[in-house]
Amino acid sequence: MRAATRSTCAYCGVGCGVLLTPDGHGGLDVKGDPDHPANRGRLCSKGAALGETVGLDERLLAPRWHGREIGWDAALQTVADRFANTIARHGPDSVAFYVSGQLLTEDYYVANKLMKGFIGSANIDTNSRLCMASTVAGHRRAFGTDTVPGTYEDLDEADLVVLVGSNLAWCHPVLYQRVLAARAARGTRIVVIDPRRTASCEQADMHLALAPGSDVALFNTLLVALREGGALDEGFLRHVEGSDDTLEAAHADDPAKTGLSAEEIDAFCRMWMGTERVVTVFSQGVNQSAQGSDKVNAILNCHLATGRIGRPGMGPFSVTGQPNAMGGREVGGLANTLACHLELEDPAHRAAVQAFWESGPLPQAPGLKAVEMFRAVGRGDIRALWIIHTNPAVSMPDADAVKAAIAGCDFVVVSDVTGATDTARLADMLLPATAWAEKDGTVTNSDRTISRQRAVLPAPGAARPDWAILAEVGRRMGFHAAFDYAGPAEIFREYAALSGIAGQMGRDFDISGLGALDEAGYAALPPTRWPVSPGRSGGRFFGDGRFFHPGGKARMLPVTARPPAARAGRRYPFRLNTGRIRDQWHTMTRTALSPRLSAHLAEPFLDLHPEDAARLKVSAADLVRVKSPEGQAILRARITRDVAPGQVFAPMHWTGETAPSARIDALVAAVTDPVSGQPESKAAVAAVERFDAAWYGFAVSATPLAPEAEYWARARTPAGWRAELAGRAPVADWEAEARRLFGLPDAPLQSLMDACRGSARLAFLDGDRLIAALFVSRAPVAVMRDYLVTLPGTAVPEALTGRTPADRPDPGPVLCSCFGVGVNTILTAVERQGLMSVDAVGQALQAGTNCGSCRSEIAGLIARAQTKEAAE
Ligand code: SF4
Repeated sequence: MRAATRSTCAYCGVGCGVLLTPDGHGGLDVKGDPDHPANRGRLCSKGAALGETVGLDERLLAPRWHGREIGWDAALQTVADRFANTIARHGPDSVAFYVSGQLLTEDYYVANKLMKGFIGSANIDTNSRLCMASTVAGHRRAFGTDTVPGTYEDLDEADLVVLVGSNLAWCHPVLYQRVLAARAARGTRIVVIDPRRTASCEQADMHLALAPGSDVALFNTLLVALREGGALDEGFLRHVEGSDDTLEAAHADDPAKTGLSAEEIDAFCRMWMGTERVVTVFSQGVNQSAQGSDKVNAILNCHLATGRIGRPGMGPFSVTGQPNAMGGREVGGLANTLACHLELEDPAHRAAVQAFWESGPLPQAPGLKAVEMFRAVGRGDIRALWIIHTNPAVSMPDADAVKAAIAGCDFVVVSDVTGATDTARLADMLLPATAWAEKDGTVTNSDRTISRQRAVLPAPGAARPDWAILAEVGRRMGFHAAFDYAGPAEIFREYAALSGIAGQMGRDFDISGLGALDEAGYAALPPTRWPVSPGRSGGRFFGDGRFFHPGGKARMLPVTARPPAARAGRRYPFRLNTGRIRDQWHTMTRTALSPRLSAHLAEPFLDLHPEDAARLKVSAADLVRVKSPEGQAILRARITRDVAPGQVFAPMHWTGETAPSARIDALVAAVTDPVSGQPESKAAVAAVERFDAAWYGFAVSATPLAPEAEYWARARTPAGWRAELAGRAPVADWEAEARRLFGLPDAPLQSLMDACRGSARLAFLDGDRLIAALFVSRAPVAVMRDYLVTLPGTAVPEALTGRTPADRPDPGPVLCSCFGVGVNTILTAVERQGLMSVDAVGQALQAGTNCGSCRSEIAGLIARAQTKEAAE
């Protein structure tokens, strides 16, 4: 067996190290790297299932021009010519790149250099705009640079961890495991600040379900309490400007905006004030807001005022969504930044970069941020667009309008690993890029640690690395010397050298100490936290009171809470919150390839409070239509007290490929934070009504399905596929419909039809083996789904019952993805064996003992069982 190769997980900004061992047949064994400082061997469910996502299913293997395969030479020349001609006729700002936190730093560097340095436009933005642009803005306003002050070790050493707008248990599970380990070791307390009760609340000491968007009011109240409690650090405040104005603004703000009781606020303030080692972790719930930048600064104000920053176990801590969101920030991938944390609008910085790149004049003003960029595409101002490793036709707010804008653009290039995305299907030119396990370069995680990503699988077909595609287009546009790279190591050295200039100009980002790495040194580079310069390495920032504004001081910023931009009213009475689920990633182009990950939550849903459900006459498992001024969706209702009355929550993962009526960002208005340009993705307004279908269906199949119903959602299973279906138009011939759905025109069929009840059950067979089955009913179909999905390919005499045989219990929906343990299995064990802890469940069933991502949910099940027992 080959030795494992050290690399980095493809998903979130925790940046876990992985050990990769190819199996010699295109597959990959994936384990956590015990030596990586981010995870010390841990992986979450997504990371642990990476090996299931590296197959060639749906891979794009050759360039395609309007759907037809062409050679690289013709493809690259077409891209270079079309961009050059567009620039010649309409100027440099008529073209744009929309890139991604999935890019490696070296890819990002080349893309940014090509656009800002040689095309001469700043129209390059990244999907990180949707993720943490408000943090970038907040950091820059407070610190003078986009610097994350702390390190992951602070989570181990804190006595209080405050999660603001962060479902750490699901979105950054390995960090959550670190927090839980600290809790076990030193009694670290956990506070969750979130309008919604999330999995992170299960083990929290306090959950503050504040009104959506009111975080500024809460942290202003905390700041006032800190002053009144004598907790301000007057010594540290000598390094900070603006404290008086900020305190005055905080005092004028109204705690009632939070909707929290005085007792809740007081308890939180006392806990925060009385704990020296406090880390405030914040994420999308803070960033994705029309007041995201102010929310960030409200948090930073409290840490600056108390000097709780840059010392062990304390500080504000932004955790990023994507594997290389931080690398993109460092390399200048945002439309309003320059490389190496240099400022686009600073003439001296521009001059330094221009001289280093030996380019023409750099753009003097920021380019178009993501929302503005797609508006410009829609207007026809952007005429050539290159989208790299991202799916804006699904993930952008007002996604239907973005989809139409891309479709109407004169020339659209999409570089991706698959052509099966909503965006790739709109491309004129599709370019096949190498995927995660085939790529070589570096990424930076949320605590500034640069890790190597190493290729362990050969590039399939004609796929090429992104840096190579971009550099070749640069050369064909006439910029030969600037893009004549031999490989990623050479790009990294150039980048490190540029960072040395940034360091000399007083910036934080300086990795010039890595600038002399040769090929072997780059290949062997261990995880390294920046800065890395002759005078400095790793560690925390700002504990010494030195910041990056002129004059060296930090700035506290007066902020006042504002409600979300869209007002809920009679027509759209609900506040729609969007977010992630535990086992899916972004628009599911990779995670949906894993049956294990699809088992957790296989269908898009809307969480609805019981009071609202009763008023709307919606029962559990009904379908609901959700409407906003921008669009609409059909989703499965989940009735839960996790959301407050008047609020609903829906995940953002489903697409035209997996559930076309559930593209939730089609409902989100393109309203942005005025400073950061980040969209408000968590506070749309919506109306909800029952979706009264004439029929509902559930299908399982050994082969892919082709649903055409008004509502459908499909997912992979270990035995093939599953799908939920529903429609309002009656179906006259269910056999014909099922044969079309499964692509089985001639297969033998068993069926049970009841026209009076409107039910149909059809099973297609190959000998005695089940190939596919469809269950139809006038009400949401009541069958044992988690049993049925195991049946395709097996001999099943009684498939049409839709139920497990009497001697086989129904495991229920999968909760522990690693060991396939279902909810019913856990509940039964808890009740019958009297299991009182997550560890006891683990000992009995293995559930929660591998990646630990489900431990919060197991804790919730135990609590549920105990409540039920107490009530009885
Ligand atoms: S927490 Fe999970 S998704 Fe994030 S980097 Fe680690 S293994 Fe990957």
